[in-house]
Amino acid sequence: MSKIPNNIIERVTHLKSKLQEASYAYYILDNPIIEDAIYDQLYRELQNLENQYPSLITSDSITQRVGDKLDNKFDSVNHKIPLYSLENAFNFEELKQWENRWQRQIKNIPKYNYICELKIDGAAIALTYENGIFTRGLTRGDGITGEDITNNLRTIHSIPLKLNIDNPPSILEVRGEAFLPLKEFNRINQEREKNKESLFANPRNATSGTLRQLNPNIVSQRKLQFFAYNLYISPENQDINTQEKALLFLQKSGFLINSNYQTCQDLNQVKKYLDYWEIERKNLPYMTDGVVVKINQFTLQNTLDFTQKFPRWAIAVKYPAEEVTTIVKNITVNVGRTGAVTPMAIMKPVQLAGTIVQRATLHNSDHVQELDIRIGDTVIIRKAGEIIPEVVEVIKDLRPSDTKPYQMPSNCPECNSELIRFDNEAVTRCVNVSCPAILRGSLIHWASKEAMDIKGLGEKVVILLMKSKLIKSIGDIYKLKVFEIADLERMGEKSAQKLITNIEHSKKQPFHRVLYGLGIRYVGVVNAQLLAENFTNIDNLINAQKEDLLSVYGIGIEIASSVVDWFKLPANIVLIEELKSLNINLATNNENKNTGKLTNKIFVLTGTLPTLKRNEAKKIIESAGGKVNASISAKVNYLVAGDDAGSKLEKAQKLNLKIITESELLSFIENGISQ
Ligand code: NAD
Repeated sequence: MSKIPNNIIERVTHLKSKLQEASYAYYILDNPIIEDAIYDQLYRELQNLENQYPSLITSDSITQRVGDKLDNKFDSVNHKIPLYSLENAFNFEELKQWENRWQRQIKNIPKYNYICELKIDGAAIALTYENGIFTRGLTRGDGITGEDITNNLRTIHSIPLKLNIDNPPSILEVRGEAFLPLKEFNRINQEREKNKESLFANPRNATSGTLRQLNPNIVSQRKLQFFAYNLYISPENQDINTQEKALLFLQKSGFLINSNYQTCQDLNQVKKYLDYWEIERKNLPYMTDGVVVKINQFTLQNTLDFTQKFPRWAIAVKYPAEEVTTIVKNITVNVGRTGAVTPMAIMKPVQLAGTIVQRATLHNSDHVQELDIRIGDTVIIRKAGEIIPEVVEVIKDLRPSDTKPYQMPSNCPECNSELIRFDNEAVTRCVNVSCPAILRGSLIHWASKEAMDIKGLGEKVVILLMKSKLIKSIGDIYKLKVFEIADLERMGEKSAQKLITNIEHSKKQPFHRVLYGLGIRYVGVVNAQLLAENFTNIDNLINAQKEDLLSVYGIGIEIASSVVDWFKLPANIVLIEELKSLNINLATNNENKNTGKLTNKIFVLTGTLPTLKRNEAKKIIESAGGKVNASISAKVNYLVAGDDAGSKLEKAQKLNLKIITESELLSFIENGISQ
């Protein structure tokens, strides 16, 4: 037998102990220490390693049992029939694999269909009815033995104390999910917050914590509910031969069932159910964490039977996780177009919210230090603002023994100049204006979709062009020749010609895109539009003082200062002159378009107007060709004042500006300004 590598043995030992600790916190303390999705992923990893190296399986491994050992709060009682867990599928592919697996188990597949049920995120409960009377209720416990919580279960209204049917069977075992509706879960946590008690992490833990309360009065105050989804009946009732009939029988007997179940003829129909509930589940008044797909026919269920832990005839399909774990393979730093240095983790590729990711931001050196992230670490990542994933946590218990702390570089990895951290900033910067990383970032930004949208001029081509020394500034993009581009790696004449056409087209992009493309700090897409609309051409903007910028609605001090500082730099003015000579669009097309009744007049609004809201008044003025400034200055023509006008009114009076009412404004718009 080949020797198992030491790092695998170490990993399996770490995984076992971490999962054991998490399982205890989850099942016994009702106080999880990691997210379910992370638990599931680490569990899967352990399972895979154990499959690969079966000699590492030990009987105490978490993969060999259901739930966790019981504590001694309640009497332990053996389940008549073990209460199994469910196998998980984390995507549709795994669901198909499950179907293939069960179909390979039998020679002649009988007629069958599936039944899909929502997977309620609560706690599994087994109830015994003897001759129609509720006699005992158990938690799932470790699947073989449960805790007797009969008295607590009696307080749940949706658990009938007596079955609502004639001639009840001598024994009926009903299984289902006890759960807390979200509203009730929130109410309980609010109350706990008030009483300075620790909060429940999620409704499932709150449910199981409540069920295992020693005082039934507390249980009855928390409005637990119960959905029944399974039964064992003695003597057997031949008429109840499908899961659907079982649900209907349970409903008739007085139980609450979840009516959102659906029978499906095949996995394509199951997929539709999964897709529908992936969205719709967010509107349910209780928490679900997936869908349980079951084979509907009991005869087929009986043929397939159970593994040690799961039924072979059912599977839980879990919804994609928002957080996943992976392993850090390297840590690098990325220098952006502003010179900001961002540490990045390069990771083992992993699926996260629909895409495969292998890079995650570590934000800045403080964050790196706080995380103490190292190459080889297992980390938890999530999508930040939908786009770039970030590392949120390092699972230190899974750290291999031979890692070293990571040191942020003190010099720029691209130009080797010393990195600087300004007093008021968390980021470290390369301040070398000729750093190739900064130029590269600026060029990529200029060509990006929201800016000049030059298709074909992405990161790879920019790198090639810089390497061949064909571009050293934004202006150089417009001087490129077809033959120069065609000579580049994997380019050719045709794509070179296309790129040149796209570059040429970009000259017609509107002014606000050019402004955004310049990459002035804080000038995003929206601010670029505001600036373009209000200043109409680049010279107005170059000459604008801070106050002029501040008088524009939506432009604050940070943006105003950044714009003024940007145009103060001679290199930037050289760039603008070059763009002018290249016929790049540096003015709005509607510069002279304002021909309404309020053309060239500047207004300021203050106080509460009798009928118009601020935004409405602003829109009306603008559509009549006027401009609305945010603050009073000598350039303003009119102050439109409503009730409770404050300092703007005083300031306008001091400057002797014309002060008008809403109705005067409306009359201007209708009849024009007479003087
Ligand atoms: P499970 O919750 O994934 O699935 C089995 C359970 O689903 C059943 O016992 C039943 O209670 C429930 N269920 C809900 N609706 C159902 C329906 N309509 N039909 C059938 N069953 C239905 O498995 P599990 O063994 O109870 O728990 C394992 C899961 O618990 C893990 O996948 C993990 O997400 C979580 N867990 C988390 C931690 C942690 O630290 N966060 C630790 C241990 C376990």
